Amino acid sequence: MKKRTDYLGVLLILLSIFFIFVLYSVYAKAIVLYWYGFNEEFKESDISAEKKVAEELNQYFLNSEGKEYAGCLSVKRVTTFYNRENNINDTFIVEAATGIEYYGYDYSKIGGTCGGGSIHSHPKGTCGFSRGDIVSFKERIRDHGDIVMVIQCGEDKFISIDRNDFEAKLMRIA
Ligand SMILES: [Zn+2]
Repeated sequence: MKKRTDYLGVLLILLSIFFIFVLYSVYAKAIVLYWYGFNEEFKESDISAEKKVAEELNQYFLNSEGKEYAGCLSVKRVTTFYNRENNINDTFIVEAATGIEYYGYDYSKIGGTCGGGSIHSHPKGTCGFSRGDIVSFKERIRDHGDIVMVIQCGEDKFISIDRNDFEAKLMRIA
């Protein structure tokens, strides 16, 4: 009888460790976001936005009253060749934001062909791309040849992913 209790004890300890691990993996990122918020570090993107575009989008963001906005981006590719091997460096400039409209929450699907990219806001300030965002971006690459997807999660805070690199990076403002 005593031996059986021992096994139960060990099992309970193992189960507890397992659940603590699961909870930790689920909530670690949320805790980091809670403590560090906007200060989460992002690498700088190869995509930049013209200052007038950033200012226009800031107005939409600041006046959104908690609603999500979404629309199209016109993106220009700038290819530079450097060194004797003619290595190629592509950068992208967001020249305009068009068709920006307010939607309810979690609206991240923009219909139709844009000028290379789409943008939507995360009015609560979360700077990460949701699973739905990624699915929607892949569909837009397939159906509309999109190059970038951008989210705005704060004033002058634009986070981008591009079709060659799904790592979220901070968009520069030119
Ligand atoms: Zn989103």
